[in-house]
Amino acid sequence: TPSKEGKMFIRALFDYDPKEDKAIPCKEAGLSFRRGDILQVMSQDDATWWQAKHEGDANPRAGLIPSKHFQERRLALRRPEILVQPLKVSNRKSYEETVECEEIKEDAEYAGNNSGTYIAGFRRSFRLSRKDKKTNKSMYECKKSDQYDTADVPTYEEVTPYRRQTNEKYRLGVLVGPVGVGLNELKRKLLISDTQHYGVTVPHTTRARRSQESDGVEYIFISKHLFETDVQNNKFIEYGEYKNNYYGTSIDSIRSVLAKNKVCLLDVQPHTVKHLRTLEFKPYVIFIKPPSIERLRETRKNAKIISSRDDQGAVKPFTEEDFQEMIKSAQIMESQYGHLFDKIIINDDLTEAFNELKTTFDKLETETHWIPVSWLH
Ligand code: 5GP
Repeated sequence: TPSKEGKMFIRALFDYDPKEDKAIPCKEAGLSFRRGDILQVMSQDDATWWQAKHEGDANPRAGLIPSKHFQERRLALRRPEILVQPLKVSNRKSYEETVECEEIKEDAEYAGNNSGTYIAGFRRSFRLSRKDKKTNKSMYECKKSDQYDTADVPTYEEVTPYRRQTNEKYRLGVLVGPVGVGLNELKRKLLISDTQHYGVTVPHTTRARRSQESDGVEYIFISKHLFETDVQNNKFIEYGEYKNNYYGTSIDSIRSVLAKNKVCLLDVQPHTVKHLRTLEFKPYVIFIKPPSIERLRETRKNAKIISSRDDQGAVKPFTEEDFQEMIKSAQIMESQYGHLFDKIIINDDLTEAFNELKTTFDKLETETHWIPVSWLH
């Protein structure tokens, strides 16, 4: 809408280099950006190419960036795993039509696939079926589908400035990272640095209370039946099973930390983050990333890891395999969920990483940050 002209800010959820973009009408007119950059959209007049500049950039000249719709479309085609299932030959009857269709042909070419292999497309699946002998045009068989979900294709997210008011609740601090990266150690250090200011959730469990434990301190102890009911009622943000007992973090346990006027620190699997992205929690997501494998070998020589491979949870020195697994797991997390990370901290030296974490939280409370507009609706 024209009223939004120059007033819309977006967070880029992918890296973009116009020089690498075959589709851009003029490479020199393009604006390059990195995932996480905030851009000011100056014009959306063209459906394919928006005009934008980097937020805070005094230079009034805007550059071209792919529009949301256009980028979603071509990203989807490059990531077949998020697309609908490929068609089967035996499924012939379900083909709705055989058409000569420029749009489909374009899609196929984007995906580097115009040779007759099956490929799924935008709300439809299609395959190159044959060349029409008379016209020499490519014919495609296609099938409509609405299994394609644009929410899975990170492009841009509209954002708005946000600054915490003095008597407002604190934001949820979410830490994610691979096993062994030192996330729990960082969380613990932050917590003990100021126990008045930081808090952690108390998990629920169905196992019996041990003599030195008290209800509501180490865990909230509940019955299996109640746990299962709570799962049904979506009371948990995450839960798991360990040695025939359930363990889980409830949404209410996050609320009760925030209600005490504390910053709630939470570590979860990255796939749970999307459920926490609401105005109530305003999660600030920090990815704790391992350094290079060489640095891991140097810095973790004498450190120990809780073994994920044996269910006794034994604490053992790191092995070369642990390092490799950590790096690989971090790469997968970053490529799948990187668009949800507000900040990446590399845990090379623990003290330095801790200081960076602390500074990040201090800034979060005093400075203006960008939050998604979708949280406000
Ligand atoms: P314990 O019974 O010795 O206190 O804990 C055993 C295991 O339960 C821990 O090593 C941890 O893996 C798991 N656990 C503890 N709290 C939670 C939780 O909130 N969620 C999940 N999924 N697992 C938990």
